[in-house]
Amino acid sequence: MYFKMSIAAQLGAVLLLLWLHYSSVSCQAVPAKPVKVYDYSNGPYGPANWGNFPGWEKCKTGSQQSPINVTRDVVVRIPLDVAYKWEPVASDIYNDGHTPTVEVLVKNAGVVTISGVKYELVDFHFHTPSEHRILGQSFSMEQHLVHKSADGKIAVIALFYNLGPLASKFLAQFFDKLPPYTPPYVRTPINIQLPLLQHNSYYRYDGSLTTPPCDEGVVWIVLDQISSLSSDQLQKLKASKPEDNARPLQARNGRKVTYSTK
Ligand SMILES: [Zn+2]
Repeated sequence: MYFKMSIAAQLGAVLLLLWLHYSSVSCQAVPAKPVKVYDYSNGPYGPANWGNFPGWEKCKTGSQQSPINVTRDVVVRIPLDVAYKWEPVASDIYNDGHTPTVEVLVKNAGVVTISGVKYELVDFHFHTPSEHRILGQSFSMEQHLVHKSADGKIAVIALFYNLGPLASKFLAQFFDKLPPYTPPYVRTPINIQLPLLQHNSYYRYDGSLTTPPCDEGVVWIVLDQISSLSSDQLQKLKASKPEDNARPLQARNGRKVTYSTK
């Protein structure tokens, strides 16, 4: 039957094969704006493939990636040196297409000092479910408070939330007006009372950004503090994101986690 196909049919078959070939190749092509183009699916833009894009190689080749399951490998007593302003601070809230983000516009609104280096609060955002785990346990939501030192080093404080009977007063300040994840990405001024970081126990380890470009050299402070949020608040957060946005756990590669008790 094949040999009796008309010239036109054969040409059509070749064109179809060419189209299939190039359309499958284009799925792996470099997106025009790689900074925004990633997702959490099993597809070509999902976490397993982030490292295939130029500039994001660390997502695949890095040896100190985040998140991880934190454990108590070394136990110390070093109180967390953190100072957050009590009064509301001027901020902008916007959606970056993955999560609502609050950028703090006030200098020294939040400062954490780690091994003598001062890191200043820049912005914070959210992941559902949690990215890190504590002793194997995951949580409904994880907030990342991103801090930067004068020479550009990054320290992130991770704060967990679980569904509970009480709504979070901190989240209630802005969860009624979370910006949508669809463009245009408008920045809206807002005054925020920063979260209350209790001087609890915490985990510390060396890791990376949990989103592309997955840069390493990030100091992680994972608070042993579980806050409560209501199901209504969790629904509002999920509605402001296109999908769950938790990167899978990464290999420890011999890294030790320090646990500081009170
Ligand atoms: Zn994050």
